[in-house]
Amino acid sequence: MINMGIGILHKYKDHIDLDGAAPISMGEGDTPLIYSDYLSKETGASVYLKIEGCNPSGSFKDRGMVVAVCKALQKNKKILVCASTGNTSASASAYAAKFGLTSAIIIPSGNIAKGKLAQAMAFGAKIIAIDGSFDDALNIVRKLENESSIEIVNSINPHRIEGQKTAAFEIIDSLGSIDYLCIPVGNAGNISAYWKGFKEYSSLKNFDPPKMLGFQAEGAAPIVKGKVIDSPDTIATAIRIGNPASWKSAGIALAESNGSIHSVTDDEIIESYVNLARKDGVYCEPASAAGIAGLLKLSKKVDFNEKKITCVVTGNGLKDPSTSEKFASTNIYPAKSELSEVLEAINKKV
Ligand SMILES: *Cc1c(COP(=O)(O)O)cnc(C)c1O
Repeated sequence: MINMGIGILHKYKDHIDLDGAAPISMGEGDTPLIYSDYLSKETGASVYLKIEGCNPSGSFKDRGMVVAVCKALQKNKKILVCASTGNTSASASAYAAKFGLTSAIIIPSGNIAKGKLAQAMAFGAKIIAIDGSFDDALNIVRKLENESSIEIVNSINPHRIEGQKTAAFEIIDSLGSIDYLCIPVGNAGNISAYWKGFKEYSSLKNFDPPKMLGFQAEGAAPIVKGKVIDSPDTIATAIRIGNPASWKSAGIALAESNGSIHSVTDDEIIESYVNLARKDGVYCEPASAAGIAGLLKLSKKVDFNEKKITCVVTGNGLKDPSTSEKFASTNIYPAKSELSEVLEAINKKV
């Protein structure tokens, strides 16, 4: 495909209004859409995985960041600032490095997955760890709005949603149409972006947009429960959010698409996280597995037979090695550096 690797701003230039800003790219988008034999068999549906961990910084956040940074450069901004559960900061600091900007990231102390923090450090971000939650960090960031050199690149930045909607375009370009989209929900920007993408594209490409199925972690399920959660808690740090910034637009996406939102437990998330690796060879981060866990849970009640479903696998498993160590580790067999011992270990019954 001639368009591969050119980035979403070039590929979908007719669908994103940059208002005169010069398009930039780090090769985001064009992520794999893989048929899951395992999940298809479990649900009776044709289930596809949209592997967003293949974006430049390892999560879907790059699709939105490229638009936000493109606009920031047009406005001559010098500093990108975001509150982050990890992936927004990894993405912002990567684009800042490439395009000559400073990045300052505000994170909840002790609650960021190791790999994401390592990325921000490697990209040279200024890292500010507050003794509060993600929601506290976002409240501080909102107050920086009038600083003239600063561009806030959280998903309250409308350009982020514009970029993230392109994943919906790619799914339709590949599959023509789907019946359901399964997606983890934290700040609810992504579910809103997908819905925007499906709606815009459906009027051009003549297909019915899918029902949106959102999934929150049980300890961080404000939309499911209909109230702000003061101390959200889940192993899936990327969706550990108690007061989603895009709550309202997510509600619209769910209502307009005839979709629904549900919660899954941490145990269900971990089970799907391990199974996705062991049965599909896809290494994702825990938040990404929430959508898979949710699909499996719903399939016990809803008839998905012969439906076409896409699960958004939002981020790369390498970002969170501690969760693997804890829940997906296996034995390491010590052996002398000799053929016989190595063969013996290979053939040992587990
Ligand atoms: C940000 C993120 C989410 C949640 O997306 P929202 O737009 O905040 O709902 C889910 N998974 C991963 C890996 C993320 O980085």
